[in-house]
Amino acid sequence: MTFKENARLDTSQVRSGGGGGRRSGGGGGMAAGGGIGGIILLVLYLIFGGNLGGGGGGAGGGGAAGADSWNFNAAEVGAEGEGVSDDFSHCQTGADANENRDCLVVGTVNSVQAFWTSAWSEYQPAQTVIFSGTVQTGCGAANSQVGPFYCPLDEQVYIDVSFFDQLEQMGADGGSLSQMYVIGHEYGHHVQNLNGVLGRAQQDPQGPESGAVRIELQADCYAGVWVAHADGTRLGQEDQAILEPVTQKQIDSALTAAEAVGDDRIQEQMQGRVTPENWTHGSSEQRQKWFMTGYESGDPNACNTFTGDLG
Ligand SMILES: [Zn+2]
Repeated sequence: MTFKENARLDTSQVRSGGGGGRRSGGGGGMAAGGGIGGIILLVLYLIFGGNLGGGGGGAGGGGAAGADSWNFNAAEVGAEGEGVSDDFSHCQTGADANENRDCLVVGTVNSVQAFWTSAWSEYQPAQTVIFSGTVQTGCGAANSQVGPFYCPLDEQVYIDVSFFDQLEQMGADGGSLSQMYVIGHEYGHHVQNLNGVLGRAQQDPQGPESGAVRIELQADCYAGVWVAHADGTRLGQEDQAILEPVTQKQIDSALTAAEAVGDDRIQEQMQGRVTPENWTHGSSEQRQKWFMTGYESGDPNACNTFTGDLG
């Protein structure tokens, strides 16, 4: 989606974190690098993931969410380079969000949270941490290799924007909504945490009809619900809307992302065969279907993935 050029952004909803271990100031800093095997992953809710086998990376701890064996080169994700600026003062307007990935995240977080705040009286805002390389979280240390995630223990979303490059390599078309969908999905997990269903993923972590898959498809659906209402979102009553109306082309773009992160698609690429018994997020077709269910209904109540056929 396109941000309105003059829309005001609220940078207080994001903060920077991590930085490839370069932030050693106050002690307690974590070592730079440190392969995925050395990472403690407790309960992360990822945009993609699961036990992909192959790759050999070995999942740290074999926790419920499963560390990914999605071993792309750490250098590619900016473990050392890039870095994240310590503030987001360059993200003031919608024009900034249309130009810059950090600012796109800021503006998307603003819109997603404005939607949930207006749609659900019990919604409580959650910060997004934009990091580079590695980051300490309430769920343990993590690095970019796991992709964007939500940590229910500190109730924050984490993203290294270099993931958007990875998403394109996985098949997304690189359009703005293919990226914004990721944020919508992760905030879907925050909503699930607030309403108490998120734990179902851990109770039943794997398989085509598992609690994990149902949780993930619901988060996709919630992303679609947000998109349906996104053009009406604004920071305050006095503010103009943050976003222009969504276009069909942008919806198609989101669908390329949903397809790219489907378990069957990733398994096919990583291990050369599809093993539904290891699914944690659902197939490409399911992820697209539930995103569209949310978008077409615009109703969170339509996102009931816990009863009936997942499609
Ligand atoms: Zn997820």
